[in-house]
Amino acid sequence: MLKTGAQYIEEMKKMRPNVYKWGRLIEDVTTDPATAAHIKNVAMWYDKSNDPATADLYTTISALSGQRAHRWNTLMATAEDVFGNENMKRDGYRSCGSCMGPVCAGWTALNALYGATYDIDQELGTHYHERVKNFMLFAEEHALSMAGALTDAKGNRALKPGGQDNDDFYLHVDHEDEKGVYLSGYKNQICGVVGAQYVIVLPTTGMGPGEEKYAVAAAVPRDAEGLTIVETRRPSDTRVEEEGWDGIKSGTTQAFLMFDNVFVPHEHVFMNGELKMSGKAIGNFTSIYRAAIGGCVAGQGDVMIGAALGMARANGLTQKAFQDKLTQMAINNETTYSGGAGAIFAGKQHKSGAWYPNALLAHVNKVHVAALPFNTRMLAQEISGGVTETGCIPSYQDMMNPEYGPKLLESMRSGASAEDRIKMARLVEWLTVGGGIPGCMHGGGSPDTAKMVVKGATRWDQYVDYARALAQVENPLKEEKKK
Ligand SMILES: Cc1cc2nc3c(=O)[nH]c(=O)nc-3n(C[C@H](O)[C@H](O)[C@H](O)COP(=O)(O)OP(=O)(O)OC[C@H]3O[C@@H](n4cnc5c(N)ncnc54)[C@H](O)[C@@H]3O)c2cc1C
Repeated sequence: MLKTGAQYIEEMKKMRPNVYKWGRLIEDVTTDPATAAHIKNVAMWYDKSNDPATADLYTTISALSGQRAHRWNTLMATAEDVFGNENMKRDGYRSCGSCMGPVCAGWTALNALYGATYDIDQELGTHYHERVKNFMLFAEEHALSMAGALTDAKGNRALKPGGQDNDDFYLHVDHEDEKGVYLSGYKNQICGVVGAQYVIVLPTTGMGPGEEKYAVAAAVPRDAEGLTIVETRRPSDTRVEEEGWDGIKSGTTQAFLMFDNVFVPHEHVFMNGELKMSGKAIGNFTSIYRAAIGGCVAGQGDVMIGAALGMARANGLTQKAFQDKLTQMAINNETTYSGGAGAIFAGKQHKSGAWYPNALLAHVNKVHVAALPFNTRMLAQEISGGVTETGCIPSYQDMMNPEYGPKLLESMRSGASAEDRIKMARLVEWLTVGGGIPGCMHGGGSPDTAKMVVKGATRWDQYVDYARALAQVENPLKEEKKK
């Protein structure tokens, strides 16, 4: 089914309030200044699904039901489906400027589980795959928004989950009964939970022997009893909550989740102690996520080009003065976009029917995603001027002051009106040092973990053999394995 933005907002209003910020409970996430912009943005994705001009980007024919559905509720069964994911996100970033977790990470988690449960059921005789499939059909039928929560609190990073002094550092099954399981623990830094109707939880890493209780995946309603959420976006991006024409009217949300014996019925549990499945699910998740994120940062980079060029023009300058820098920004965007596309089309269909991008290429892309957008930001600031770099734009209240406001505004006038120049400057500030930053460094995992996959998947010895053959070296040039 397809939902409109207005229907989505109505459903969000009905959810049990369990999100806190600034020490207070948010009664209505759709109207509270801390969260309303994010909800409005997610609603925009629903509306874009119903707009004939964008419907093909935001919807597709579901491989499971044969019906038209929001893309983020469907199984990605072909390379075109995952490429559709990347393209939708590029377009979404162009419209919202930031990350929309509720139409991304939960969907990716379900697609990751689709293949992982298929494999585990074959191997262990479990029955998780049917549950995942049924939940995906349920999500499609109800046009759900779903966050994906993988990142556990993790405690001391040098220790494994089983070696921590507090079980809650990793989400775990506290106990279970004939009806279902009870989850406790912390998930940190999760995008878009505020705008989600369900949270799909997955382990943050592959679990080892003795860590069965942390190997858990499930679908949890965002307003489930026992789940407390703290929205954390601050401080540089609080301008989103400002009144006046200079405040950014777009935004994402981030959250810390505290589970205290949250009940999940068995039919919504997709992994419960299967260690092997935890690694498989993470592998599937990262290959999709780290390919598609190439489109996210490219879309945001497109806006950065527009904002920097717009700022140059508002300053009275022309594109010609900055062409080299603008071209480099475009190259950065297209590098991550094509890296993602390459990983997707070099991928293959899993036996279950899900399409997984090529892991090596997806992880190479993640390394670029963690670096190139910072160069794009630097160039945007360089083009735009210090007004965007130092956060020295006066507040709306000061600009409206009857005594000194008119002179203050006049001092900001340049190639365009003061109001237009300030709005553009605020956008550059938000994109480069504020809430518009998409989390390209650690979102989807740290670049170091991506490099580990690159190291593991690259055939180093084979490459030495290619070189030996060309150089006609008989010596095998092998390294002796240290004992
Ligand atoms: C904007 C944003 C959005 C996000 N959205 C989501 C989301 O929707 N869902 C979700 O599940 N997560 C989300 N995350 C969390 C993200 O996945 C994590 O930030 C990421 O996996 C890294 O974990 P961490 O932040 O705990 O870093 P840490 O684990 O603290 O790592 C910090 C650094 O130390 C390195 N490191 C860690 N352990 C070791 C070790 N033992 N040895 C050597 N080096 C080590 C890491 O590689 C990294 O470079 C988001 C993050 C951001 C920034």
